[in-house]
Amino acid sequence: MSFEELGIDKRFVKQLEHVGITTPTPIQAKAIPVAITGKDLLAQSKTGSGKTLAFILPALMRLAKTKALSKNDPRVLILTPTRELANQVYQQLKLLISGTNHQAVKILGGDNYNDQVKALQKKPHFVVATPGRLCDHIDDRSVYFKGLELLILDEADRMLDLGFAEQIKVINEAADHRLRQTLFFSATLENAEVDALSRNLLRSPKRVTIDSSATGHDDIAQNFYLADHLDHKHALLDRLLDINPDGQKIIFTATRDDTVRIAELLNTQGIKSVALAGDMTQSKRLDIMQHFSKGLAQVLVTTDVASRGLDLLNVTHVINFDMPKQAEEYVHRIGRTGRAGFKGIAISLVSAKDWKSFKAVESYLSLRVGFKQLDGLVGKFKGFKEKPVKSKTKPNKQSIAKTQKKQHKKPMRKAKVQKPIPQPFDVDGVAPLKRKPKKQEDS
Ligand code: ADP
Ligand code: MG
Repeated sequence: MSFEELGIDKRFVKQLEHVGITTPTPIQAKAIPVAITGKDLLAQSKTGSGKTLAFILPALMRLAKTKALSKNDPRVLILTPTRELANQVYQQLKLLISGTNHQAVKILGGDNYNDQVKALQKKPHFVVATPGRLCDHIDDRSVYFKGLELLILDEADRMLDLGFAEQIKVINEAADHRLRQTLFFSATLENAEVDALSRNLLRSPKRVTIDSSATGHDDIAQNFYLADHLDHKHALLDRLLDINPDGQKIIFTATRDDTVRIAELLNTQGIKSVALAGDMTQSKRLDIMQHFSKGLAQVLVTTDVASRGLDLLNVTHVINFDMPKQAEEYVHRIGRTGRAGFKGIAISLVSAKDWKSFKAVESYLSLRVGFKQLDGLVGKFKGFKEKPVKSKTKPNKQSIAKTQKKQHKKPMRKAKVQKPIPQPFDVDGVAPLKRKPKKQEDS
């Protein structure tokens, strides 16, 4: 199956070839034809499987093939939960529209508001935005979406986690007409909140699921180590960095303070590290991410601000210094490695404090974890004993058959990737940290 067979114009196919993209990934092969027909879509596939192009390409085709509903309003709106992700999507879009007469703007919190007003006055066809700031422009009437043809929510579930439901409602109402098409994309769409949102935003959507949220990722090895306390975690981290000297690493911590503390500590040990936290200024975030994406730092220490969407192909290891509270975020964090067919390693340090989160991940992914050990660094903590759960009913034949079927499922076909595809990457901000903040940082 080629991109042309999926209905993509030759000129875009050529542009993709220039960056080494020749064969559609499974999500692209399945989602693009549906999206091109104008149907609403809920599309799910694992991290690093090429979802961005699965929505950008049909958007480009729509603009190429159909007449605009309005001469003034944007035709395509792509929403992302974080500024960094918006930036990355914008870069990919820019690459593909470079040979067309279409214009794109990004509307992100933290950037100059008046510059954005001026950019919107130029009547761009594409807007890539984080929800909060876009709503300010809708309120101020610097942009109208009456003519919007395509609304795309990348990482739709994260948008809800971060408390953007209200903003999405405003955006939905600003573009509420029969001819609008709406697409949701994520690696984790299977939850009740997304279902509720999709009932409000989507019309008879088609669901394209390549992998269930809870499917393991074949390209990412997952290693877990038990830790007694903070000092023990540090000793484990030092050794792990020592025995894995090559490649870039992202270390996730639970708190912003720890990001800075750990980065400083690693720097004193001669490992070039940068910390990224949501309370930093916009320009500092930009500097940090550019520094890391250019390979000038080996380690990025961060919180869940960087768990979604970021495509940094040189990241070989993701280390959870602390386990994430939500199992879905574990899936996204480890998905910062093992992208586009490359192999990656995820390492998680699990102390008594992390136990509950660890068990949630174990159950979400149906993992049976055997903890690894490092010589001389074996601690006392062995996990908490589970209370035996008395099963009232025996598993029925159907569920046994289902489990067996799952175990024999063939592995997904992988995207053919010969070499890393360099991604232009400039980042000018990150999203809120808390799951349900009162005030969004990314506004
Ligand atoms: P996702 O959104 O599913 O996490 P991305 O859209 O960020 O994944 O893509 C991950 C990486 O795969 C990017 O570097 C992208 O350039 C690359 N990629 C996308 N589509 C293809 C393809 N068809 N063949 C090879 N590489 C691809
Ligand atoms: Mg993505």
